[in-house]
Amino acid sequence: MTDLFDLEHIWHPYTSMLNPLPTFKVKCAYGATIELEDGRTLVDGMSSWWCAIHGYNHPELNQAVTDQLQNMAHIMFGGLTHEPAIELGKLLLKITPPSLDKIFYADSGSVAVEVALKMAVQYWAALNQPAKTNFITTRSGYHGDTWNAMSVCDPVTGMHQIFGTSLPNRIFVPAPQSRFDGQWNPQDIQELTQQVEQHHHSIAALIIEPIVQGAGGMRFYHPEYLRQAKALCEQYNLLLIFDEIATGFGRTGKMFAWEHAQVEPDIMCIGKGLTGGYMTLSATLTTKQVAETISRGEAGVFMHGPTFMANPLACAVALRSTQLLVEQDWQTNIQRIEKILTQQLIDLAQLDHVADVRILGAIGVVELTTNVDMKTLQQQFVERGIWVRPFGKLVYVMPPYVITDDELHYLLAQMSEVVKNMQGANANVLA
Ligand code: PMP
Repeated sequence: MTDLFDLEHIWHPYTSMLNPLPTFKVKCAYGATIELEDGRTLVDGMSSWWCAIHGYNHPELNQAVTDQLQNMAHIMFGGLTHEPAIELGKLLLKITPPSLDKIFYADSGSVAVEVALKMAVQYWAALNQPAKTNFITTRSGYHGDTWNAMSVCDPVTGMHQIFGTSLPNRIFVPAPQSRFDGQWNPQDIQELTQQVEQHHHSIAALIIEPIVQGAGGMRFYHPEYLRQAKALCEQYNLLLIFDEIATGFGRTGKMFAWEHAQVEPDIMCIGKGLTGGYMTLSATLTTKQVAETISRGEAGVFMHGPTFMANPLACAVALRSTQLLVEQDWQTNIQRIEKILTQQLIDLAQLDHVADVRILGAIGVVELTTNVDMKTLQQQFVERGIWVRPFGKLVYVMPPYVITDDELHYLLAQMSEVVKNMQGANANVLA
C-alpha cells in the first residue's frame, strides 16, 4: 500500500525518516471525495489542512487556472503587474476589515506571518523607535514553521525546545480561557495587561489568531479578549496583528473571524482558503497609515520581495475561489454544516475519555483526555472510508463547504464510531 520510494526517500510533514508513518497514495480527488490508488474512496474531513473550501477538482477553479495558463503561468512582480493580482486585490479589500488598504502578496501562510512581523518592526523603526522589535503573543498559538513564525508559536507544544536559543525570545501570556460561547472572565486579560505595561517599550506588536487558535489546540475563545487586547495595543502603542490564515474565508461562520469581535487589526495575514486550496498563496494586509509610515522611513521601502510574489496562476484561482464564495449564500451553508456537526458530535462529550466537544462554523472538535495514537486511528478512519487526521488529543474535522448532508453524516458517524471504540480499547486495557 505505502509506496516504497516515498517511504525511503520522501520526507513528509513532521515525520521521522527512520520510522515514518504510513502514507496512502491518492489517485485523484473531486468534490469532498479523495480516491486512493487502490480504488477506495474517502470522504474528506480535512479540506487538505483547511484550505480546499470548495472541494477538489472544481470545474470553475480548474477553468480559472487553465485560462490563466494561456496568458502566463508566472511573471516577476518587481516592476511588472497583472490583472489577476489587481482584481484579486480589489475583491480582498471588499471583504477584509475596512481600515486595511494595502496588500502584500506572499508565498505561504508562514511567509505572510514573517512579512507581518517585518512590517511591524519596520514601522517602529520608521517612527524612530528602534527598540520596539519584540513580539507578545498568547500560549497555544500557531503561526507557521519558518523561523520567526515559529518563535511566536506556543513555546511548549511548538518547536521551542528543539530549536532552543536559536529562536528569539518572545513574551508569552496564558491562552485566553473564557470560551467563545461562555461568560467573559475579566481575569483573562490580566497577564496580557501586566506584560504590556511592563514591556511595551520593546514590543512592536501583539500577534494573535482571532477567536480560533488552530494548530495550537483548536480552542475557541471569547470575542471580548480581542476587544480588550485592541484597547491595550492602542493605549501602549503596539501594533495588532491578526493571523486569519486558518480562520478566513467563512470557516468560523463569518467571512473573517475579526467580525465576531468587530475589532480591526493593523496588519492581517490570510492564506490557506485564499486559493480554494489549489496552490500556495498568502497575503499580508495593512492600513494606509502603517504602509505610509514604513515608506517614509529611512529604508524608504518595505524590505521583502519573494520570487513567486503574486504568482498569476495562484492569483487567478484565488480570485475565482473568492468570487465563488461571495456569490453564494455561504453563511447558510456554513450554518448547515455547523448544525450537522452539533447534532452528530455533541453526545460524544458524555464519554469518559472525551474531555470536550466544541463546534464553531464548519469546525468540529472532539478533545480527548489523552493523546491519540495517530497511526492506528488514521488506519481505522481510512478503513471506514473517511479522511480525518488527528493530532495530540484532538480528533477534529474541517470539511470542504461543498460536502453534502449525506457525506457529512457518513463522515461524522464513522468518526464517532472510532472515537467510541477507543473507549472500548481503553476499557480493555484497564480490565
Ligand atoms: N498561521 C496559522 C494560523 C496557520 O494555521 C498556519 C498553517 N496551519 C500558518 C500560519 C502557516 O501557514 P503555511 O503552512 O501555509 O505556511
